Amino acid sequence: MQTFFTPEQLKQSSLKRANEILRACVHCGMCMATCPTYQIMGDELDSPRGRIYLIKDMLENERVPDERTVKHIDRCLSCLACMTTCPSGVHYMHLIDNAREYVEKRYKRKFDDRAIRWLLARILPYPWRFRLSLYGAKLAKPFKFLLPKKLRSMVDFAPKKIAKSSSNDRPQIFKAKGIRKMRVALMNGCAQKVLNTDINDATLNILTRHGCEVVIAKGAGCCGALTHHMGKADESHKSAAKNIEAWVKEMDGEGLDAIVINASGCGTTLKDYGHMFKDHNLADKAKRVADISKDISEVIADLNIKPIVDTKNLKVAYHSACSLQHGQQIKALPKTLLQKVGFEVVEPNEAHLCCGSAGTYNLMQPEISEQLKKRKVKHLEATKPQIIATGNIGCMMQIGSDSKVPIVHTVELLDWATGGQKPQSLSDID
Ligand code: SF4
Ligand code: SF4
Repeated sequence: MQTFFTPEQLKQSSLKRANEILRACVHCGMCMATCPTYQIMGDELDSPRGRIYLIKDMLENERVPDERTVKHIDRCLSCLACMTTCPSGVHYMHLIDNAREYVEKRYKRKFDDRAIRWLLARILPYPWRFRLSLYGAKLAKPFKFLLPKKLRSMVDFAPKKIAKSSSNDRPQIFKAKGIRKMRVALMNGCAQKVLNTDINDATLNILTRHGCEVVIAKGAGCCGALTHHMGKADESHKSAAKNIEAWVKEMDGEGLDAIVINASGCGTTLKDYGHMFKDHNLADKAKRVADISKDISEVIADLNIKPIVDTKNLKVAYHSACSLQHGQQIKALPKTLLQKVGFEVVEPNEAHLCCGSAGTYNLMQPEISEQLKKRKVKHLEATKPQIIATGNIGCMMQIGSDSKVPIVHTVELLDWATGGQKPQSLSDID
């Protein structure tokens, strides 16, 4: 694609990167076939190619974003299915992140939109604030009809049962059982540890049982993804910087073989820290962190796991989270691991399409999110599974809110089959 940035503009690193990405696009439109919002809305401006044109025009002319451009940028899920499909290697993720930051700095949103975004950015990344807000949402449920539409979807998001906080999530070291083969840090997340403590417990169990020493590093917390996807670069950099310092301290101390992530949405962001901090004084440290960041499935693949418990060949429908299959290009590995320990694994139709969770998307774009959820649940249930498994808490919450089939994190099944506890949510399955 021809671009018309001036030499002066190209001195700005964000525009220089946008220019590189835009020039790689050959307008072929192949990405449109796998874009969930284009499938639903049928409008080219809700497709990757349409958004690329809008972003190009906005950035080249350095103009104040208009309502139409913001609407179509906001409707993008950042699912990155377009990146998997694109034959020209267009790095859409960096382009949309760039555009979101540009919009956030220059566009004045309506009051309710601003208020909700402000609220989410100040609640979700902070576990105790998030926990408190879930209790508040539970109390507000009977009166939700009095609330504006977007606040209603936030109230709906609160789970029926709120898990107690787990002592495992505090900074500490979990010793390896037997001979130590690896020393890893677990990124134990922010929202995940409020919504579900079983995932981190299962991760710790399977890792320590297979010879990993696991560190929960002091000072590490939210990866910054939630605010990053809202274009709030300062806030996301602040969270990410704390993590980088905390993990580099461990790397320079006793050493780390990997930083393990069991929420794939966070994993995509951690693996991109090198790019996020490229113009920052933490650039080298950020790259070191990104280089050893691994999804839990990648770490388990190196541990030579074997089935110990007879899980009776239970039928598992595997939902491939976008952040794992498109963001990190990890597609077959979780399924292979599940099969290796004795589960029958099936995949639904339209496995490449997003479930509509996408970070805070289900709260900010409830109508589109709901349509994608229904479509995903229909395809998953059509496989007649006994269990649904996925590698991201957002997808678990989204699909779990509409399906009767129990849903668990992949690591919970792997832990169980290799000698850990049966996931609590499967207690009704014999
Ligand atoms: S598939 Fe890639 S090259 Fe083709 S229009 Fe989409 S982003 Fe551009
Ligand atoms: S990230 Fe997903 S929703 Fe956004 S343009 Fe690409 S495919 Fe479409």
